[in-house]
Amino acid sequence: MNIHEYQAKSVLAGFGVAVPQGKVAFTVDEAVSAAKDLGGKGVVKAQIHAGGRGKAGGVKVSKTIEDVQESAKNLLGKTLVTHQTGAQGKVVKRLLVEQLTNIEKEYYIGLVLDRAQSRVVMMASAEGGVEIEEVAAKTPEKIFRETIDPAVGLSPYQARNLAFSIGIPDKLVNKAVKFMMGLYAAFVDKDCSIAEINPLVVTSEGDVMALDAKLNFDDNALYRHKDILELRDLDEEDAKEIEASRFGLNYIALDGNIGCMVNGAGLAMATMDTIKYYGGDPANFLDVGGGATEENITEAFKIILSDEKVEGILVNIFGGIMKCDVIANGVIAAARQVGLDKPLVVRLEGTNVDIGKKILNESGLNIVAADSLADAAQRIVSLV
Ligand code: ADP
Ligand code: MG
Repeated sequence: MNIHEYQAKSVLAGFGVAVPQGKVAFTVDEAVSAAKDLGGKGVVKAQIHAGGRGKAGGVKVSKTIEDVQESAKNLLGKTLVTHQTGAQGKVVKRLLVEQLTNIEKEYYIGLVLDRAQSRVVMMASAEGGVEIEEVAAKTPEKIFRETIDPAVGLSPYQARNLAFSIGIPDKLVNKAVKFMMGLYAAFVDKDCSIAEINPLVVTSEGDVMALDAKLNFDDNALYRHKDILELRDLDEEDAKEIEASRFGLNYIALDGNIGCMVNGAGLAMATMDTIKYYGGDPANFLDVGGGATEENITEAFKIILSDEKVEGILVNIFGGIMKCDVIANGVIAAARQVGLDKPLVVRLEGTNVDIGKKILNESGLNIVAADSLADAAQRIVSLV
């Protein structure tokens, strides 16, 4: 789960991480009143679940109340297209009105889970405020790393190493260390999967603070973080993914035109790979789970079909716990109920597969029963 910048800053402040003063605003009036509290000026920042706002005009330095009002009017309701939103962009519904900070220099600090090492890694760079992916690609030597032992946590000497490596002024190293220790504490305590501060800044007044903040959380740990779950903004999420989660379906929307319905995450990945291998493009990842019922299958069909990019569906189900004839009946019932008018290829394997195929072939519906995953993928690719 992702949250907004202003929410991330408030979570981090709770762990002693320095952030500029600021307030969220949902209307122009709220933005103006927030700016009054900041001495009549501020930076007006679009709150969307995507970075790259600065370049896209989503961060406006506003030196007077009139400027703030103008910026807020301009941003609220606007569709912001950044390199992270995709071409369709995201509509701005909230603003952060924040203290205008006197930046001396911008840096980068990030925490990620390095799966190869099974450890959390803190990364730091003097190349702040720019896309870190670009730094990593072109000048990887400019990114410094400290691998963190989970039993010990981030040690102050590791934080000092990073601070020295990126050239934090000597006088401010202790503040930078405190910042990094707080950031790591928040990351662990709140079960984050990513924490990214870009930029971390040193100010003319000699402060070290987070000017931007991105926190992602491990969905599987949210049950023990009610406070974080309350920060969820459904407006920022794919409507189809929200609907799917209500029915216990694991669904991720993608850009292709072949809808996939599969049981088991591994089989779903293999199905997507095979579609790609034969030149097609999956429209989604969808795992209906091991014990999918007719109702689940119907809901899954509805969700797949509500995606207007979908031109055909591939159902790939292994009947282990569930028998293939039961699945075949479920698919037919669902196809009838939703009035399926797009090509549907079904590949069944497992218990009672022959009966299942017979049911599909005799349904009178336009369903192609495939023999293998390769066969199914080739058929749906040629049909769309
Ligand atoms: P994004 O990463 O989405 O572009 P940021 O929050 O990083 O958004 O802001 C982009 C740039 O705007 C920063 O690198 C910084 O130079 C400037 N900026 C952001 N917040 C402030 C602030 N409170 N005061 C002064 N400048 C700011
Ligand atoms: Mg940023």
